[in-house]
Amino acid sequence: AQKELAGLVGKEALTSDGVHITLRANVDLPEEAGAAASHGAEGVGLMRTEFLVVGRTAMPTEDEQYRAYRKVVEAFKDQPVVIRTYDVGGDKLPVGGFPHEPNPFLGWRAIRMCLDEPELFKVQLKALMRAAVHGDLQIMLPLVVSVEEVRQARYLLEDAAAELRAKGVEHRADVPLGVMVETPAAAVSVDSFVKDVSFLSIGTNDLVQYTLAVDRGNASLVTRFTPLHPAVLRLIARTVEVGHAAGLSVSVCGEMASQPLMAYALIGLGVRQLSVAAVGISAVKRIVRGVSTERAAAAAQAALAAATAREAADILRHALRAEL
Ligand code: PEP
Ligand code: MG
Repeated sequence: AQKELAGLVGKEALTSDGVHITLRANVDLPEEAGAAASHGAEGVGLMRTEFLVVGRTAMPTEDEQYRAYRKVVEAFKDQPVVIRTYDVGGDKLPVGGFPHEPNPFLGWRAIRMCLDEPELFKVQLKALMRAAVHGDLQIMLPLVVSVEEVRQARYLLEDAAAELRAKGVEHRADVPLGVMVETPAAAVSVDSFVKDVSFLSIGTNDLVQYTLAVDRGNASLVTRFTPLHPAVLRLIARTVEVGHAAGLSVSVCGEMASQPLMAYALIGLGVRQLSVAAVGISAVKRIVRGVSTERAAAAAQAALAAATAREAADILRHALRAEL
C-alpha cells in the first residue's frame, strides 16, 4: 500500500469523472516546504506562522519572517502559497507576556490580538509583502467573525505598504487577502465577506469545535467531535455555495480534508481544493482518483439531510464503498 501511495506522487488528482481536485500542503515550519513540494503538493494551502514563535519570548523580526516566508514561496514557484497571519492564543502558543485567560478559545487570540497590536501585526504584514515579490504569496486571516476585521486588516496592510514604500523597500502591495471560515458566524454570514476577500478557506478543526461547543483538544470529548454532524456539513455547504457563486476559490484546510470519508463528503459538497499535511497528500489523492463528483454529490446531499453525524457517516461510507 505504501508503494502504491508513493507511485501517486507524479499523478494528477483527477476524479473518475474527470474533475481536478487541487491538493495543497499544510506547512508549520519553513523547513517543511521542500518536502511538501516533493510529495506533489500544488502549493501551500495553509502555513501556520505561529510556529515561528514556538519556544520564544519575543516575536521574530521582520527580516527573520521575510526569510522564512520567502523560503516557502520559493519552494513553490508559480503555485499559490497561502500564509496565515499569527493565530496565537487559545491552544496556540501563548507568547511570553500575553495574559492568561480563563477561556482562551473564546479569548484574545488570532486576528483579534493582531488588530489590537497593530505595530506587531504590521511587522508581519511587511515581511509578507516583501516575500510576495518572490512568488504567488497570499495572506489569510484566522478566526474572523466579521468583515470589519478584514477591512481593518486591509487598512493596516495599506499602512504597512506605505511604510515600505517610504523606505524604498521592495514589496508587493496588492497581495490577495483571504479569510479562514472557522467560526459559525463567518460561515452563516459568509455572504457579507465575499466582496472584501480574494478567497475562502474552511478551517474545520475550529469550525467543528465552535459549532458543536466541543473542545478540540479534550480527550474526553473525542467521540463527540464529529465533523460529519449535519450542522457542520450545512455550514460547509453554505460557505462553498456562496463562495463559488461569488467567484471565489473555497478550500478546506482542516484535518477533515485528510480523512477519506470526510474528504469524500467535502468533494460531494462541491469543494475542489483540499489542503492537508504533506504526508497525507497521496492518501487523499488515492480517494480522489477512485470517486466521481456526481456520486459524491448525491451522497453529500443525503448526508446533509441526515439527523445525526452517525447517520451521515453511514450514508457516506456506504456510497464510498460502492465507488472504491
Ligand atoms: C482549523 O481550525 O481547521 C485550521 C486549519 O487551523 P488550526 O488547526 O491551525 O486552528
Ligand atoms: Mg483554526
